[in-house]
Amino acid sequence: MTGARNQAIGRAALGPSTALRAPRAGLIHAAVMSERAVVIAGAGPTGMMLGAELTLAGVDVAVVERRPTPELDGSRAGGLHARTIEVLDQRGVAGRFLSQGKTMQVAGFALNPLDVSDFPTRHPYGLALWQKHIERIMAEWVTELKVPILRGLDVTGFTQDDRGVAVSLSDGQTLRAQYLVGCDGGRSVVRKGAGIDFPGWDATVSHVIAEVEYAQEPAWGMKQDARGNHGFAKLEDGRHARVMVTEERVGQTGEPTLEYLRELLTKVFGTDYGVHSPVWISRFTDMARQAASYRAGRVLLAGDAAHVHYPAGGQGLNIGVQDAVNLGWKLAQVVKGTSPESLLDTYHSERHPIAARVLRMTLAAVAAGRPDDRSKALTEMVGELLRMNEPRKRWAGMMSGLDVRYELGEGHPLLGRRMPDLEVLTAEGPRRVYTFLHRATPLLLNLGEASPGDVSPVQRVDAKYGGAWELPVIGAVPAPAAVLIRPDGYVAWAGEPSDPKLREALRTWFGVTG
Ligand SMILES: Cc1cc2nc3c(=O)[nH]c(=O)nc-3n(C[C@H](O)[C@H](O)[C@H](O)COP(=O)(O)OP(=O)(O)OC[C@H]3O[C@@H](n4cnc5c(N)ncnc54)[C@H](O)[C@@H]3O)c2cc1C
Repeated sequence: MTGARNQAIGRAALGPSTALRAPRAGLIHAAVMSERAVVIAGAGPTGMMLGAELTLAGVDVAVVERRPTPELDGSRAGGLHARTIEVLDQRGVAGRFLSQGKTMQVAGFALNPLDVSDFPTRHPYGLALWQKHIERIMAEWVTELKVPILRGLDVTGFTQDDRGVAVSLSDGQTLRAQYLVGCDGGRSVVRKGAGIDFPGWDATVSHVIAEVEYAQEPAWGMKQDARGNHGFAKLEDGRHARVMVTEERVGQTGEPTLEYLRELLTKVFGTDYGVHSPVWISRFTDMARQAASYRAGRVLLAGDAAHVHYPAGGQGLNIGVQDAVNLGWKLAQVVKGTSPESLLDTYHSERHPIAARVLRMTLAAVAAGRPDDRSKALTEMVGELLRMNEPRKRWAGMMSGLDVRYELGEGHPLLGRRMPDLEVLTAEGPRRVYTFLHRATPLLLNLGEASPGDVSPVQRVDAKYGGAWELPVIGAVPAPAAVLIRPDGYVAWAGEPSDPKLREALRTWFGVTG
């Protein structure tokens, strides 16, 4: 029991092992311009995804990135959950990631695996793929899309007024833009510059994490003692290990060194296994904080800049990418004048609750992972619940991101939920619904006999579908005659084309006035 429990706790930090192809450096298209519609600070997973979304929407964007090359020193996050794979599928690039990782059941809470293999999705699994590979594949994609990334530069500050934002860079340049988005990670300069509060919980546990070579084979897997959880995982090259050790106390300052890691290992394992030649040494804690507002005027936040938390459950990268996909089309429409600025407020109202529940889950996961008997008893009792089908489905829906429902009011059960990737029959033959979202444009899918009329510039597809409609967690739902789907894949309206709410939704979300 205890071994399984430790494995679950450490899995997100150590990540599942997977066989991968050798990394290849992504080439990044660089350009220097002084005037852009949108400037993004940071080309991590969130910034790259947002850059792709805005570029697909035809918005003039520049991404400013501190790192001179796309390579990451360490492997960091261990993979993708089902909804993130779907989101990438909506853009036609999921296969690039799937072909380089390993699909497996990755969702879990404390010792409890949460299987999603019975969920109605084309991707009823997660993907084990290290963040350094995820970023490499993303970098290749954004290069193809010609997203301009200005590398080796820091955003150092900005000023904003009614007309735009002036973004200062570390080389003395200033970029003018209509909007600035901070995708610059947990220590976000953009968030601090915007004066956005970052309330939350201070750290109660602190770990050193590293990727090192070793002289003696370590004890693979997780170990728990009175101090907390520790562990070793073999990396794909067989030469390096990923090691995590819990520190005696929180609040240590300064970057951890190899000497310090060796000391910690010796205290916990009685040996340092001769670890040497570190590729990456870092520290992470269970500090959990969330931006009080995701927007301050012309400045927005996404990803770790907006929320930081313990990696248990493997959520951070996933919800960052999903933030970007929620924000991208909205920002594009505002910049193009299709929609009023107030559309941007729906970014906060939709995405803030999603990260808030992730923070709550990580607080619970830290409590469940403590090495005392009371925490163990609590974890075991939660486990008993999660082995029942209904609680398992609910938690698996949350951890996989497949249960997300944005509050869009009363209506069909699809409203505010992700559109399933059905195979529909069009005049050109069978097509998967997600293929109509590849260009990040909205879609009215008309499956009935009645005509919804002209909905341009929204794309309209007339098709037939006679199969079941089933949603993760919810189960079967009634078949709608038509569905209005946002570029992020969430349903803005569903029903009969004669329903006046269709015109209202077309106007509200996409500025269609006819
Ligand atoms: C040990 C560990 C395990 C994890 N495991 C998982 C997991 O399994 N699943 C998961 O989903 N998440 C996991 N995470 C979290 C995940 O790594 C982060 O949530 C994710 O990297 C956030 O992406 P981001 O693009 O928002 O921010 P970041 O990845 O931090 O990217 C920010 C980018 O901005 C750049 N930057 C910063 N400041 C500036 C500036 N002023 N100017 C210009 N550029 C700047 C940085 O160089 C960086 O490239 C884990 C994290 C850790 C530490």
